[in-house]
Amino acid sequence: MHEWAIAMSVVSSVEKWSMEKNLGVKKVFLSIPSLSMLEVEVLIEAFNTIKKESKIRDAELEVRVRDQNFKCRSCGNVFTMKDIRDQLDPILRDYGEENPLHIVPSLITAFAKCPKCGSHDFDVDSSIRVEGIEV
Ligand SMILES: [Zn+2]
Repeated sequence: MHEWAIAMSVVSSVEKWSMEKNLGVKKVFLSIPSLSMLEVEVLIEAFNTIKKESKIRDAELEVRVRDQNFKCRSCGNVFTMKDIRDQLDPILRDYGEENPLHIVPSLITAFAKCPKCGSHDFDVDSSIRVEGIEV
């Protein structure tokens, strides 16, 4: 659902960069966090449609799903999905694909806690990053 908005902003920022540097863009490397709920295929399709109206119409989009990061607001600890896997396993086992985290990823703070201090108050990294551009 957010794929088109994201593709739009990626195309416009890369296009701006390309015009400033006066360079053609062959490839754009994007990374998304694993809990982002974005469909990679939809994202690429949206990018390919939007780029046709831009100055980077030859650019290809490559999307990497990166390890989900969390940052504890209480102790500052940064941890990944792997660190709380054992806390989530029972939920994933009970619900399968229909698990509540698949539907509402922000619920993760209700089910998991910081492995260091036990706080449920942590940030879920949801940033979409352009990791690189090939010219
Ligand atoms: Zn903590």
